[in-house]
Amino acid sequence: AVAADSSRLATFRSAAGLRAKGGAVRIHGISKSFGTLKVLDNIELNLTAGSVTAIIGPSGSGKSTLLRSINHLERVDSGFISVDGELVGYTQKGEVLYELKEKDILKRRTDIGMVFQSFNLFPHLTVLENLIEAPIQVRGVSREAAVAFAQELLARVGLGDKIDAYPRQLSGGQQQRVAIARALALRPKVLLFDEPTSALDPELVGEVLDVIKELARTGTTLVIVTHEIGFAREVADTVVFMEGGHVIEAGAPAQILNDARHPRTREFLAKVL
Ligand code: ADP
Ligand code: MG
Repeated sequence: AVAADSSRLATFRSAAGLRAKGGAVRIHGISKSFGTLKVLDNIELNLTAGSVTAIIGPSGSGKSTLLRSINHLERVDSGFISVDGELVGYTQKGEVLYELKEKDILKRRTDIGMVFQSFNLFPHLTVLENLIEAPIQVRGVSREAAVAFAQELLARVGLGDKIDAYPRQLSGGQQQRVAIARALALRPKVLLFDEPTSALDPELVGEVLDVIKELARTGTTLVIVTHEIGFAREVADTVVFMEGGHVIEAGAPAQILNDARHPRTREFLAKVL
């Protein structure tokens, strides 16, 4: 099995460009189970640097687990993941081929931003403090530089006037925009969004999607798990449909959303559109 996996790795290296930099994400044959439940089953994905990928699919299909695996919040059982040229890889038996050390994982995570459904701001910190904490603590940026960049980011998400507010004083949409600015404060090459608008009142969804739309122009690789099909159509380069731990199909938005090949994709879209 190791020999077979080595040849898989060789294929992966040559075909996918293992050390692709600039925020590329390469996923080759990853699987992950929780107990007897196979949540990711031999997933293949190839996201070029600066691309925007929307992942859609029913609840429980493995979307969050996939994002968490890219961010090293979950360790996959087998397969290869390369993010911005950094590789982890396990054989089909789960033997380690390439693994990051714990401290490198923590460092990697700061290059891979993640925005969650539930904002996850520090409630006891002001907006400014939320934005400068990690750059100062994790990156050793000077306070002055961190504050200047935080001001710039807050202006970009339209919240320049909320710099001294506490999260509880903000609407859900504003909190999520702060959460996005906070992720950007670490200048990530890859930014993952896990249903960033699902916890918002409908009238607040647009302002958050607009911020993400802006980001799509900046060259950061974006992966967005979303139920907002219209947004996926407008912003994504690639739409990925997942079900039951499988990537059922992936392609250009028009192809997947208007002309899906797989009946399961069509069934799902018929329900959500
Ligand atoms: P999605 O984001 O598409 O809704 P998830 O990746 O969250 O799907 O979950 C996929 C499946 O894995 C679900 O059946 C979920 O209950 C299960 N699951 C997720 N995380 C865990 C965990 N830590 N332990 C056990 N089961 C889990
Ligand atoms: Mg999820």
